[in-house]
Amino acid sequence: MEKEFDDVLARTARIATDWLHTLDDRPVGETVSLDELRERLGGPLPAGPVPPLRVVEDLAAAAEPGLVAIPSGRYFGFVIGAGLPAAVAADWLTTVWDQNAGLYACGPAAAVAEEVAGEWLRDLLGLPAGSSYAFVPGCQTAHLTCLAAARHDVLRRAGWNVEEAGLNGAPPIRVVVSARRHTTIDRALRLLGFGTAGLTVVPADDAGRMDAAAVRSVLAGPPVPTIVCAQAGEVNTGAFDDLAAIADACAPAGAWLHVDGAFGLWVLASPALRHLAAGAERADSWAFDAHKWLNVPYDSGIAFCAHPEPHRAALSTTADYLTQGGDGSPRDAIDWTPGFSRRARGFGVYAALRSLGRQGVADLVDRCCEHARTFAAGLAGVPGCEVVGDVVVNQVLFRFADDDTTTRVLRDVIDSGEAWLSGTTVGGRRAIRLSVSNWRTSGEDVERTLAAFRRAAVS
Ligand SMILES: *Cc1c(COP(=O)(O)O)cnc(C)c1O
Repeated sequence: MEKEFDDVLARTARIATDWLHTLDDRPVGETVSLDELRERLGGPLPAGPVPPLRVVEDLAAAAEPGLVAIPSGRYFGFVIGAGLPAAVAADWLTTVWDQNAGLYACGPAAAVAEEVAGEWLRDLLGLPAGSSYAFVPGCQTAHLTCLAAARHDVLRRAGWNVEEAGLNGAPPIRVVVSARRHTTIDRALRLLGFGTAGLTVVPADDAGRMDAAAVRSVLAGPPVPTIVCAQAGEVNTGAFDDLAAIADACAPAGAWLHVDGAFGLWVLASPALRHLAAGAERADSWAFDAHKWLNVPYDSGIAFCAHPEPHRAALSTTADYLTQGGDGSPRDAIDWTPGFSRRARGFGVYAALRSLGRQGVADLVDRCCEHARTFAAGLAGVPGCEVVGDVVVNQVLFRFADDDTTTRVLRDVIDSGEAWLSGTTVGGRRAIRLSVSNWRTSGEDVERTLAAFRRAAVS
């Protein structure tokens, strides 16, 4: 039995490294159709057991052409990082160790790794001492966590215990969001009982920055329980809201300021770029991802909260059979996350931070932004290509003469297998969005991708 386990893990490590070695040469996108994938992976449920080694080998062979080479240095889609070697390896161990990191009792080392990684992150990003945190599946769940804490706190201050009394009959909460907020904000709010029709939507400029003066005038009236959602890094342009001005508006109104910093918050780790998010440290909560710019494998998001009491009050749960608290107050993640049984996500973050160090995170962020600027300069020389707006951080938006050409050029580049990017609509026109978020992306990857665009533009 153990021998069989050894064999399958050793073989799997080989399959994994073989795949990584193909990244420079294989097409970045998938090479099979949906129907072919259903054919390759499908078939009836086997009547009896299939040996593990065979299962893994067959799975790898069947899936391979349907994989997108996301860890490739020429994958620029959405905002997606790759896995740093230490983080990938720690993630494997997380699976093998199989801790249930909801309770300290089911994974003491996992709980302490989260404590350490949480403190490292707080320090790296300059968030307030004493902030609480939660390791969650992604920024979406981080929003849910932070906004649950916000809901608790603004209602508590209005004399209402929302965990006990619910929202029926509660004092109304004003929720102020930007016209260019990420869609995950809406879903988190929806799950917390705030319908989209009830949101106070503040306009944003062309780059996607929330109008801070409009936030100020919305908040100028008599104080009511208020949550404001601002953004560090708009998903298309990478633009940052003026967080200092928004924090100034929130303070006198007693509003809870939440920051969606899914990828953008990482600029706080870079001395050269942290001015973009100046004022972020004055927020009440922050949601961001490790699986984007920190290059931890999926999935890995983080919620931070400047006020541990409402955070814990909103999320904590218990049952007679659980063992929480105890000598030396161990940290039980179920008190801080919307999850119950959960993966020990802290190990991957811990490993990524340790392997990069403070300087390494700054270098990673700076390097990606440098590549984005090189892209913008290079694209400006591609026939018919127009770079849209400024390159703020690691995102570049560009388009061709008309929507059809933009769509065709993007299609041609993806079909060439040289790179993978995604499209979007800005100002009513199609555009290509390019995000450099991968530790592996090199100057050579940038040049190869630019060459692919030059070829597609004139074909
Ligand atoms: C990616 C992203 C999200 C959602 O993050 P997930 O990790 O996918 O849940 C939220 N906001 C912004 C600005 C993003 O870029």
